[in-house]
Amino acid sequence: MNTKQKPHVVIIGAGFAGLETARGLANSPVHITLIDKNNHHLFQPLLYQVAIAGLLPSQIAQPVRTIFRKQKNLAFQMGEVTEINLNEKFVKMNGSVIAYDYLVIAAGARTNFFGFDTLEKHGLQLKDLETAVTTRNHLLSMFEQASHEADPEKRKAMLTFVIVGGGPTGVETAGALAELITHVMRKDYPRLNLNEAQVILLEAGPHLIAPYPDELRQATLRLLKDKKVDVRLNTKMQDFNGLRVTLGDGSVIESQTLIWTAGAKAAEIIDALPAEKASMGRVRIQATLSLPQFPEAFVIGDASFLNQWKWSTLAHAFDRGNPARSGGGEEYSSDDGREGAQGISLQRPRSARHGGT
Ligand SMILES: Cc1cc2nc3c(=O)[nH]c(=O)nc-3n(C[C@H](O)[C@H](O)[C@H](O)COP(=O)(O)OP(=O)(O)OC[C@H]3O[C@@H](n4cnc5c(N)ncnc54)[C@H](O)[C@@H]3O)c2cc1C
Repeated sequence: MNTKQKPHVVIIGAGFAGLETARGLANSPVHITLIDKNNHHLFQPLLYQVAIAGLLPSQIAQPVRTIFRKQKNLAFQMGEVTEINLNEKFVKMNGSVIAYDYLVIAAGARTNFFGFDTLEKHGLQLKDLETAVTTRNHLLSMFEQASHEADPEKRKAMLTFVIVGGGPTGVETAGALAELITHVMRKDYPRLNLNEAQVILLEAGPHLIAPYPDELRQATLRLLKDKKVDVRLNTKMQDFNGLRVTLGDGSVIESQTLIWTAGAKAAEIIDALPAEKASMGRVRIQATLSLPQFPEAFVIGDASFLNQWKWSTLAHAFDRGNPARSGGGEEYSSDDGREGAQGISLQRPRSARHGGT
């Protein structure tokens, strides 16, 4: 294949959005370079299972090269994109310059600690394999340390697990951790009094999983209470210093574990992108998912923000049985990479200026 005659599409990120874009272009006359700082695609929704030692990391991560083994128009490069030059149409990765004709930025999101330095230092998070494994190791070490701690106060603090954020990730993690204690740790630590263990879920607002229908919120609350999770609504976390959690009303929870699931913001590479930003640092895109001044540059998935829902533009996605995932309305993170692929396919390919990688 002479890649120089075909438009070069560079996709940053092999998450859900990048992967779908690459797949959507499998039969298009383009040459694709897919870049990710990791060599695997990660199924983030199951990270909490890795954190509670229910799944192995390899069960939720698949090598990108394996996924695209049969896709002849795609080359994968592992590396971190450190610069995007929209005017000159190139990205920089591992010290090399990669020119593009079309760029798809699908770099996702990262944890937002909202400037809480101590929280960032001591808090645990679930965003990638590394943070999930760190969380798992920490949780297991708490049970281990508690098993030979004679001081009841210290032992109780080791067995008190605080999760902040009543969204889906916080709820899942709290429930799974409670089950781990009840079904696994009781058997593994027969001499440890696990009645001392407690899982506390803090939520600043009045509801768990706030965007969901009230019936589901109430059912979720009931299920967590059945599992003995101490759900505290309307409760703000003020600080965490690694030994105690301070709440908004000044009260303190003695605990060495805080799992932060209460915030996300666009990936770091987005920070320097000269584009208009919306909440959480996401890039404001047009209905075509491209940047207003750069029609050949698309931003999709968690890194993007679409504030005008244009049903007509996305109608093709529905025709193909592929409705966009989040509901309509004013805010929309363009989570589906197939829309990005469609955007590229719909534009007339221009001759490539550069020979790809
Ligand atoms: C714990 C957790 C649970 C979730 N549960 C659910 C759920 O149940 N249901 C649901 O619908 N959604 C869930 N989500 C959200 C869902 O995972 C995201 O919406 C989705 O992953 C976004 O896809 P994306 O492609 O935009 O970003 P991501 O999937 O995050 O992919 C971004 C990719 O870009 C790469 N990258 C970033 N920066 C660079 C760079 N500079 N250079 C190279 N590569 C880079 C990253 O390594 C990553 O592979 C969950 C998220 C988390 C964290």
